Amino acid sequence: MDNNNSFNNFKNIDLGNDFNSQNTYLKDIENKNANKKNNISNANKLRIVIYSLITIFLLFLIFNQNILNAYFLDKANKAYSKGNVEEAFKNYKNAFATKMDNKKYVPRYYSTMEKMKFYPIVQKEMIKLKTNYNNQKVNGRINSLFERKRIEILSEAGANYIDHTPTNSNIIHWNKEFPIVVKIEQNSTPDFYVAQIKEAFYDWSRALNGELVFKFTNDENSDIDISFVDSISGATEQYGKKIEILGSTVPVYSGKNLSKTTIKFKKNDIDGTEFTGNQIYNLSLHEIGHALGISGHSYNRDDVMYPTNNDATWAGEIETLLISKKTLSDRDINTIKLLYNTIPDITNHYYSCDYNYGLYYPEVVFGSQEKMAEKKLKESQTYMTMISGNYISYMDLGEGYFATKNYTEAKNAFLSAIKLAKESTEFYNAYYNLAVTSFEAGNYEEAIDFAGIANSYNDEKRANEIIGFSYIKLKDYKKAQKQFEELVKENPDNILFSYTLADVYFSRYKFFKAFGEIKRMKSRNPGVFSDELYSHYKIIGMFL
Ligand SMILES: [Zn+2]
Repeated sequence: MDNNNSFNNFKNIDLGNDFNSQNTYLKDIENKNANKKNNISNANKLRIVIYSLITIFLLFLIFNQNILNAYFLDKANKAYSKGNVEEAFKNYKNAFATKMDNKKYVPRYYSTMEKMKFYPIVQKEMIKLKTNYNNQKVNGRINSLFERKRIEILSEAGANYIDHTPTNSNIIHWNKEFPIVVKIEQNSTPDFYVAQIKEAFYDWSRALNGELVFKFTNDENSDIDISFVDSISGATEQYGKKIEILGSTVPVYSGKNLSKTTIKFKKNDIDGTEFTGNQIYNLSLHEIGHALGISGHSYNRDDVMYPTNNDATWAGEIETLLISKKTLSDRDINTIKLLYNTIPDITNHYYSCDYNYGLYYPEVVFGSQEKMAEKKLKESQTYMTMISGNYISYMDLGEGYFATKNYTEAKNAFLSAIKLAKESTEFYNAYYNLAVTSFEAGNYEEAIDFAGIANSYNDEKRANEIIGFSYIKLKDYKKAQKQFEELVKENPDNILFSYTLADVYFSRYKFFKAFGEIKRMKSRNPGVFSDELYSHYKIIGMFL
């Protein structure tokens, strides 16, 4: 979402002077030309003149948005007066994209949208209108429309705990159009463990009416990795009872891209004996629920996503598990269905859902970001009272504080988590979160330091993007360029990195390098200009 302040999600970073230096770019080219005057051939001279003219023309097109705005507005108004809602919408949308401060047409744009079906594209434009065009009357109407829709959606969904599904205020789930590839570690794993885990996957798939398909493989390229370990850190004592974590699920994502989720099961029960079939099934149902995108827990004992069996009534991550087999409750099923009808902030393959009626943006389902953040904090505080003093609960609490923008408390919680961390992925995740927290708090040097430590625990050096964006904030474009050149090399299809690199080149007056990057992205991904992030470069892209 446009105003999503979240871990990993840096698309709101403003690049400072990205588009302000148009005249300087030209001067730069002129200076370069002047310097080389003596050893330049006539053919090259001509080429440079042509390039410069094209450049001036392109810049004129890009920066003179008034012309585009007037053009679309005229078409929109004509369609509007003829009652052609769809056509009016399309043109108002383009007009709005070129210029957002023309007060006159915005109420008419909103009225047009009100007449349309509640398509995702309509929701998206309303959210944009709310964020970019601050008109009390229009915003009030959008807010009350969203509130009405929210009540409608929730009552249709039936009892659920959807409020506990976001991860750092982001909706994460897999794209249903693809089979989700699952790899289960087979080495010395009892066969019946594998069979029960597969059954748990099939039961979740059935809950979603088979819309979610799983494929089991031993290949390296998997979406969900399941492994078995001797112990999961986080064992603790509470109310005089030994508490042990039996399963843990961690999503790995970068920007908007969910690359993997890892599930770890403890090999044996708390007393050192093998789990029974029912136990491993119950535990799998719970952890798979996390892996499918239910980040938090239900606090209703009948649900599979209840986190603990403190008084031995049910099974979850901790202590010994219930002997009898659990089944997904109606609340579990309603929650996963609603989650998969919510458009994810983070997913494995992007899909266009603009006209997919029945899908909703998170803001419609959850209410405002602030409301969502408060719920997250409350949930993590509840979890802390149930399972206190371990790595996971401190990480969760940190995320709760982060969501509510209380960066000081978030930092404290992540530092506490580090004291309890044992494995390198735990250190990595905690330092990564610390880096993002420092970044959001505006402490960019500190963010670079924490990201550096995080990288030392991660071969793929995923924290590099935080370092890159921090250098941009510090206006050290030279260092930012180096970071993003590496990031683009490692992730050639990542639109955010490519877009940012092009912008950094512009900031450093490296005009042709910027064009080169846009051209490279276009050749790898011809549809890239339909991405909002890249749409600025649409016109340049036509000529490359
Ligand atoms: Zn859990």
